[in-house]
Amino acid sequence: MNQLSASADIVVIGGGVIGLTIARSLALRGSVDVLLVERARLGGEASFAAAGMLAPQAEADEADRFFKLCCQSRDMYPTFAAALREETGIDTELDRTGTLYLAFTEVDQQEIDHRYEWQVRAGLNVQCLDSSDARNLEPFISQSVRGALKFPNDVQVESRRLLSALVAANKKLGVRLMTSTTVASIRTNRGRIEGVDTSRGFIRTGTIVMAAGSWSSLITVADTGSTIPRIEPVRGQMVCFDATDSAPSIARHIIYSPRGYLVPRRDGRLLSGSTTEPVGFDKAVTAGGVHSILSHALEISPRISDLTLTDVWAGLRPRASDGLPVLGRSAETQGLVFATGHYRNGILLAPVTGELIAGLIVDNVVSPDLDAYSPDRFHSVGANR
Ligand SMILES: Cc1cc2nc3c(=O)[nH]c(=O)nc-3n(C[C@H](O)[C@H](O)[C@H](O)COP(=O)(O)OP(=O)(O)OC[C@H]3O[C@@H](n4cnc5c(N)ncnc54)[C@H](O)[C@@H]3O)c2cc1C
Repeated sequence: MNQLSASADIVVIGGGVIGLTIARSLALRGSVDVLLVERARLGGEASFAAAGMLAPQAEADEADRFFKLCCQSRDMYPTFAAALREETGIDTELDRTGTLYLAFTEVDQQEIDHRYEWQVRAGLNVQCLDSSDARNLEPFISQSVRGALKFPNDVQVESRRLLSALVAANKKLGVRLMTSTTVASIRTNRGRIEGVDTSRGFIRTGTIVMAAGSWSSLITVADTGSTIPRIEPVRGQMVCFDATDSAPSIARHIIYSPRGYLVPRRDGRLLSGSTTEPVGFDKAVTAGGVHSILSHALEISPRISDLTLTDVWAGLRPRASDGLPVLGRSAETQGLVFATGHYRNGILLAPVTGELIAGLIVDNVVSPDLDAYSPDRFHSVGANR
């Protein structure tokens, strides 16, 4: 392996959707010397596994601050996708057909009734459908559907195209993208960042963005007692069908139930997920995982049984102990900024994360939106060491 002697104004650790979006946002705000360091290939981990749903309303039970942040980021997508297209020519296939959330049991129906009521009270765009309305919209959903909600503003993006667009945008903006290079530790002197020690040598820098997803807390901070909030991997498995020959299509909307979802892609793929498994860094696809995804997909639409299953995969969602993202400056190590722990919502939260973190670093703007996600919140409760 080549040894390098490099330096950069800002080093971003991790080339997933979060690191790539932040690097681009930094470059757009005029940072000219940004280096992104990726252990393997760009966008090859959780971000590659994602379903690309931008659907905060479909699962939310209250309008808390996190829900509002998610909606804010979702609503940035049309501009974000258009800008990426302009910069790179890549269409990220932002699909605005919307989301249907189906109820099959009495408990499901109670869940959607509650969701409908609070969202209407909060002035959100949501429609209540009976079973025939739902089947008019999606003729192949199961006859057993009792009722449904439609969320017109909950949409989807083709997450792998999004990653390609982000890589291309960063290249065009002059961000240096260093792949096959692992950051082992962060070097500090008297509580200030000096650089990162990598598998290819030392890189000097004064500012580091920690965007290493599920692996963030494996990177150590040398020379100080400071710690990185604990981030744990949570495996999610996915199944992909070929639905190109089904006309009319089996699903035009994202279709959810409380147990699973279907996400149609423009090229005829139909994705179905997922599982939520705290099994460490194991990305295996298991018989049990696929069985559970298939049974939930078949509950939504028995027509799935005719489709060819073309692919399966798994990814590791990065989760902090309270399930919320970790965003902002470290109080212990000057120059260290966190952007990790996006758990189930990293694709959704990418645009707002890019803006908040670039604003913090370049313009020194500490948005009040960051308060709830401070890396210091774990210190006070002592829960996350
Ligand atoms: C099955 C599944 C479905 C999902 N569906 C959705 C969805 O529909 N909508 C949504 O919003 N979110 C979804 N998510 C969640 C979303 O994928 C994640 O929140 C998001 O991808 C996290 O992005 P990230 O950049 O932080 O992490 P990652 O994409 O995992 O990127 C982290 C990068 O850091 C690199 N890295 C790690 N350690 C080092 C090191 N020491 N040195 C250098 N590089 C390092 C890794 O190689 C990796 O490329 C889903 C996730 C899964 C698994």
